[in-house]
Amino acid sequence: MPDYNRQATVYWWSVVMLGAVLLVVCLVMLAELGWSGWLQIAAALLLAMLAGLFPVRVPGSKNSFVVSEIFIFLLLLLQGPAAATLVASGEAAIGSYRTSKRWTSRIFSPAAGAITMASTAWIFEATLLALQSLGWTGAAPLLASSMLFAAMYFLVSAHLTSGVIRLKRSEPFFQGLAMVSVFRWVGMAYAGSAAVAALLFLTYQQSGASVLMVMVPLLCMLLVTLHFYFRQQESAAAVHEAHSEAVEREKLMLARESETAARHLRELQASERRFHAAFTHASIGMALLQFDGRILQANRALEALLGQPSGTLTQRLLLDFVVPEDLRDLVDQLGLTSDREFEGFTRELRCRHGEGHVVWASVHCSFFTEPGAEEPCLILQAQDISARRQAEAGLQHLAFHDGLTGLPNRRRFQDDLASAVARSRSPQGHPFALLFLDFDRFKLVNDSLGHGAGDELLIQVARRIHDHVRPGDTVARLGGDEFAIIARNVEHERHALVLAERVMHALRQPFQVAGAELTASASIGITFSAFGYETAEDMLRDADTAMYKAKASGKGRYAVFDASLHTAVSERLRLEGELRHAIEDGQLTVEYQPLFDLRDGRLDGFEALVRWRHPAGGTLAPSAFLPIAEETGQMLQVSDFVMHCACRQLRDWQRIDPSLAELSMSINVSADDLAHPSFVARVTRALVESGLRPQHLTLELTENILMSRIEGGLAALNQLRALGVKLAVDDFGTGYSSLSHLSKLPIDCLKIDRSFVHQLLRAPDDDAVVRAIIQLGGSLRKSVVAEGIESQAQMDQLRSMGCELGQGFHLSLPLSVQAASELLRHPRPGGNAALH
Ligand code: C2E
Ligand code: MG
Ligand code: MG
Repeated sequence: MPDYNRQATVYWWSVVMLGAVLLVVCLVMLAELGWSGWLQIAAALLLAMLAGLFPVRVPGSKNSFVVSEIFIFLLLLLQGPAAATLVASGEAAIGSYRTSKRWTSRIFSPAAGAITMASTAWIFEATLLALQSLGWTGAAPLLASSMLFAAMYFLVSAHLTSGVIRLKRSEPFFQGLAMVSVFRWVGMAYAGSAAVAALLFLTYQQSGASVLMVMVPLLCMLLVTLHFYFRQQESAAAVHEAHSEAVEREKLMLARESETAARHLRELQASERRFHAAFTHASIGMALLQFDGRILQANRALEALLGQPSGTLTQRLLLDFVVPEDLRDLVDQLGLTSDREFEGFTRELRCRHGEGHVVWASVHCSFFTEPGAEEPCLILQAQDISARRQAEAGLQHLAFHDGLTGLPNRRRFQDDLASAVARSRSPQGHPFALLFLDFDRFKLVNDSLGHGAGDELLIQVARRIHDHVRPGDTVARLGGDEFAIIARNVEHERHALVLAERVMHALRQPFQVAGAELTASASIGITFSAFGYETAEDMLRDADTAMYKAKASGKGRYAVFDASLHTAVSERLRLEGELRHAIEDGQLTVEYQPLFDLRDGRLDGFEALVRWRHPAGGTLAPSAFLPIAEETGQMLQVSDFVMHCACRQLRDWQRIDPSLAELSMSINVSADDLAHPSFVARVTRALVESGLRPQHLTLELTENILMSRIEGGLAALNQLRALGVKLAVDDFGTGYSSLSHLSKLPIDCLKIDRSFVHQLLRAPDDDAVVRAIIQLGGSLRKSVVAEGIESQAQMDQLRSMGCELGQGFHLSLPLSVQAASELLRHPRPGGNAALH
């Protein structure tokens, strides 16, 4: 009894025990019963059991009742309470066996049935006897007692059977009349059964057992008929109900469907209206197309995009508006639309605008089925992307062109060079030359005239180079002052050399920049695809190498690459790195080359010449490292070193020997020095620190430096001259200085270039030049120095021409400090022996 509480358990046991006792008592009481009595008991039990199989459904309700009790009540009237108790218990046992699987119920039900019947049957008998004893005879007391019996039977039975459940739920055991509302149908069935049983009994009493033999089967048949009739009614009602439900459902569905259809129609119409409104007023161009590209309908935005009057696009072919270059692709795409798998395409096309210009459009095309239309068509959306395309083209141009000159930049040039190299390696062979240009001393323009002027010069230079190449050639700016030219279809080396000459000549013509006249010179390195290059990088590297060679051999020249240059360039790169440390590590020294008065052999002064005592490479001449110092921006440091060293040295010598008080020191000034704003200050500092008087210092500037920097440097030179510093034009005669300029320059001395001295007595023209320079010096009241005197004959010639001063290996090599000091300590009487 898993779900039984204590009360329920006690109750259960009580009922079962009491029921068992009653059954035993009943059996004892029936001990004397004859076979006909037992036959009636068996018949009643059988009939009651059978009746239980045919419950009669109460029409219009969910309740049903069984009429087993008719037979049990009838047995009660025929055989008394003991027999009825036995049958009631048996019927309950069979009924519960059929309806319940719980053993507790199967035991409890017969016990409860026995108690109910026993208790009420005896009360019935007592009541009947009491009524009869009161003299009430006939059918009435029987019927009244039966009704009372039925009521009690109902109450006891209902309480007993539902008692277990109520106790389990801890509800009050006695329900009183509340039971009536719950079990009223059962009560009515009992009442009816009791009434029928009483009537049957009365009939039996009047007409004998044979009536029962007829009535009972009739009754059974009636009950069975009623059972099936109500079942049939029930199923008919169920069918009817199901049918009407189906009909209702169908009606509902139809109503919903028609409502849905109407809503769909409304939605469709609204969507169509929306589509047409969206189509017409869309800000992007839209059109419905046939599969061949014919326009069925176009909106205003598309008309505006193509520059066509309103309403004129219908029936036109979209292809008519596309530029020929993009037509093929569009035709191909439209051809694919017949394919089932076609999912649409997006393209960027150029279209011709009505006003003649080209419009870039991003076009998307896909299938479209117009509401109500049977056949699909194509829907096209077109957006004007001209602005974006222009911006992209601008960006593209920026990415591959130099912002200043508009020429292709290094990236673009490398691509072009790579494809030119590839083409040159093809069987047809497209030979070409690569020219690498680098401006000589371009940095000075920036430093002296400012970056604006530098930029301006670069723009003009770029234009000039561009104007002097052939149409198929490529000119690019690789950065800074580096330019490159791809000269195509160069069959012979000399074609490239002629081009280099032409470009150099063009660049030598003066430029008007920032109100000043500038000359530019470039060094050009040349190499040829015929050397069999595999990569653009290799070729560019060799042209660069050749350019360095051109620079090293005197600037303003061109040089053709040859393999030996590799070593020279790598040597140069090595020196570049080492020079920085050389200055810091004190590897630079100064040698002093004496200048003599050619008339009396007297020592006039020295020219300071820088040297690099290279730890591994021995003593390096200025030409080996000064260009590197210039390129790498270290020139000022070198100049400062020489200036301080030489000034201090001369001052020392003057202090040691007062007879040397009028000795002078010549120091070479580079273009970088003159261009630098602090030039005057640096010279002054060297003078102040050494204590040298300004008139004992001569600054030498080459003719080329003087001429190209004249505008920027003139003020500085005037300032220095005002201090008393002397100025000399070095390598005079090699440049392009005009005499009118020369007369205006604040200079004291002209130094005849050694190339003229070298040619003295060999080339009459050079004799004439030297003579003219000496005369010029005389007329402008400037002293004249002859450089590079290597022989007595040259010296004699110079003296005869009236040249006052001279220097050269014939007179003295450049000397170390010690050697120069020695010379000063022991001057040969009467000056240099070579002069006598
Ligand atoms: P420069 O100013 O014309 O100096 C004279 C050069 O001629 C020196 O060469 C000298 O050694 C050389 N020389 C002297 N006599 C003779 C001769 O009889 N025959 C030959 N063939 N050469 C002779 P160096 O020392 O190699 O200097 C070369 C150039 O380097 C100088 O030419 C000068 O322009 C520059 N330089 C030298 N030292 C300095 C310096 O400290 N600063 C600057 N800015 N430039 C310097
Ligand atoms: Mg010099
Ligand atoms: Mg010189």
